[in-house]
Amino acid sequence: MQYRSTRANLNYQLDAPAAIIQGLSPEGGLFVPTTFPKPIFDLEQFKNMSYQEMAKKVLATFFDDFSDDQLSQIVDESYGNQWDDKEIVKIAKHANNYYLELFHGPTLAFKDIALQILPRLMHTAIKIKQNDSDIIILTATSGDTGGAAMSGFKGQEHTHVIVFYPYGGVSPVQLRQMLGLKGDNLTAIAIKGNFDDAQTNVKKIFNNQALVKKLKLNKLQFSSANSMNIGRLVPQIVYYFYSYVQLVKNGEITTGQKINFSVPTGNFGDILAGYYAKKLGLPIHKLICASDQNNVLTDFFKTGTYDRQRKFYLTNSPAMDILVSSNLERLLFDLYNEDSNELAQLMNELNTKGKYTVSPIVKEKLNQLFAAGFATENEVEDEINRIFIADQYTLDPHTAVASFVTKKYQENSLDQTPTVIVSTASPYKFPETVFHALTGKEVKEKGVPAIKELNSFLQEDLSGNVNNLIQTGNYQEQIIKASEMENTLLNILDI
Ligand SMILES: *Cc1c(COP(=O)(O)O)cnc(C)c1O
Repeated sequence: MQYRSTRANLNYQLDAPAAIIQGLSPEGGLFVPTTFPKPIFDLEQFKNMSYQEMAKKVLATFFDDFSDDQLSQIVDESYGNQWDDKEIVKIAKHANNYYLELFHGPTLAFKDIALQILPRLMHTAIKIKQNDSDIIILTATSGDTGGAAMSGFKGQEHTHVIVFYPYGGVSPVQLRQMLGLKGDNLTAIAIKGNFDDAQTNVKKIFNNQALVKKLKLNKLQFSSANSMNIGRLVPQIVYYFYSYVQLVKNGEITTGQKINFSVPTGNFGDILAGYYAKKLGLPIHKLICASDQNNVLTDFFKTGTYDRQRKFYLTNSPAMDILVSSNLERLLFDLYNEDSNELAQLMNELNTKGKYTVSPIVKEKLNQLFAAGFATENEVEDEINRIFIADQYTLDPHTAVASFVTKKYQENSLDQTPTVIVSTASPYKFPETVFHALTGKEVKEKGVPAIKELNSFLQEDLSGNVNNLIQTGNYQEQIIKASEMENTLLNILDI
């Protein structure tokens, strides 16, 4: 299978290993399959598969340049003992909805699902392409990608991870996960600015051709671990299928019955994987796009205008504090019938004018496929409290955004379709907010002490991965201006 860019014509094509190594297309577009696969996934047959077996099936569909043996090894290593749950993901029913727990991996958030696998895909891709450059994974993070990427790439030969995160914009626990993780090939640096500043500068560095040349002379090459990388997106398709099949197995739905997925959204990678699952034949009625106070997507679905010129809020769901949702580009590419000229123009407008408006036809398609809504910080805390009182079940703030938006949607639309709320983080990853929501009190001290305080309130056993987090060592922050990112990078690489 070949890949192309959302912003370039069909003359430029790559195979999957090349697209994974490269991450982002040179003109700034995202890689998508040249012809979207049409596999006949037999949901009945999926019923007998483990998570790992299903992952192999889905990956083989998109990454056919990897051998079955290679994929098998990659999947088994990615979804092994580093997970607290042998099933990898779990599904729980509470307050009449299903919660798909994707946070049982090493950094307690859903990004582990893809970021345990991406480094191994990349390592194998380097072998397949006989690539003689080392890969620099350059990543902007609003908190969760950084830790998950560092955890996934730690110790991987021929790779170096450099993470930029907004100073003061990530939680104490996220900070600990990034800076407490020691490895020769791992660097995390704070910038004075928000996530979008970090992401915009990372994109600029990627597209700086002089710099790319300089790297090449030094046998170095950039790639991305953000969900812009197709190698990160595809593994996320798996849990949509897996959760559907579990609901069938548990007798909650029948095969073929449509369900909704409600997704706490930031960069639009998670929910896009849901859209791809639907394209691959999974019976999905609505994808519910849930945002926090940074509700640029809610407005977009309502008006058809994407306008990033607005106040940026740092909220209690930091992984969703994003104004430019990169993966929306892949959805629009699809809805514009793969017209890369149209996409190049829209994305250019976003860069130059700060906004764009989609055509009425595309707007109509968007509203058929998606519902959208947002939650304020207070609504997030109220929702954590509501679900706990209803069912003694604890949500993290990101999941609570989706849970709240789902409740609102169900009340307003009277849609009774069974709904899976994608649960993206463990409550212990954001203990300060969760503790406050449950008790009305502030924690005595942020970070690890807050984890312990929340735990003694909840009186439950801590999972192995939460315990590992508590035991990570001390750390120090390095802080730079956003304008210094490129120079800092050159310093780190010593070129
Ligand atoms: C990254 C993240 C999200 C947002 O996912 P996107 O793919 O960026 O839309 C939501 N919740 C948590 C906990 C995350 O880490």
